[in-house]
Amino acid sequence: MSHLPANGTWSKCPFCNAHVNQLEWGFYKQCPHCHRYLRLTAQQRINQVVDANSFSQIDTNVESTNHLNVPEYTQKLAKAHQQSGLDEAMVIGQAKIKAQPTLIGVMDTHFMMGTLNTAVGMIIKQLYLEGAQRRLPIVIFIASGGARMQEGIYSLLQMNTILNAKRAFDQQDLFSMNVLTDPTMGGVSASFAFEGDIVIAEKYTQIGFAGRRVIETISNEQLPVDFQDADHLKQHGLLDDVIERAAIADYVGKMLKLHQGE
Ligand SMILES: [Zn+2]
Repeated sequence: MSHLPANGTWSKCPFCNAHVNQLEWGFYKQCPHCHRYLRLTAQQRINQVVDANSFSQIDTNVESTNHLNVPEYTQKLAKAHQQSGLDEAMVIGQAKIKAQPTLIGVMDTHFMMGTLNTAVGMIIKQLYLEGAQRRLPIVIFIASGGARMQEGIYSLLQMNTILNAKRAFDQQDLFSMNVLTDPTMGGVSASFAFEGDIVIAEKYTQIGFAGRRVIETISNEQLPVDFQDADHLKQHGLLDDVIERAAIADYVGKMLKLHQGE
């Protein structure tokens, strides 16, 4: 006898190819067979980590434009907006996590792979500015394929200017924490992703600069299976911890409480 409901939506696990019922994915979107996690929308992540009804979104008033006139970029932006319902690849707001007040930023891979462009850079800088003004800690959930190539050098410049904004926030002796989620790659991993007082990753997260295929092709070497895996990075001292998705809210809440007033 199957314990599965007779009806329901089935989808294929992108990691182990098992057919999984909608109900089986559950609140945390975890495959019951291989235990890996589906990528979340910003809204799903917020629902999972903040206290019920505690989130109030901060208006960002940024709009991405195709200032380098890259072919098809305008259409891609419109499509991403239409499919995700987001203005850009990041949502920021104030919330409570396990009763601890905090600012929170969440990147969303459903908007152009969560890539960092001028607008996303401005949103992150605004988050640090708001943190300094409101004297609140900041928790950023990172999920990004890296810098957005359609904005070229302007995307890369964000790596630097975000860190300047972060420095101004740090000078106020406030606490910041980053949670790296799948994927954390490219110019994002090479800049602000690792700039937090505490940096943890969700289990199974891929973290790196260039992707496996690129490195294998250039170096002509076979890379180990766990290359760029969060647990591998923790073993080498790059992360403070690696946490299962269901335990993240508790973990972050505990850190916020421990660092109150900092
Ligand atoms: Zn699976």
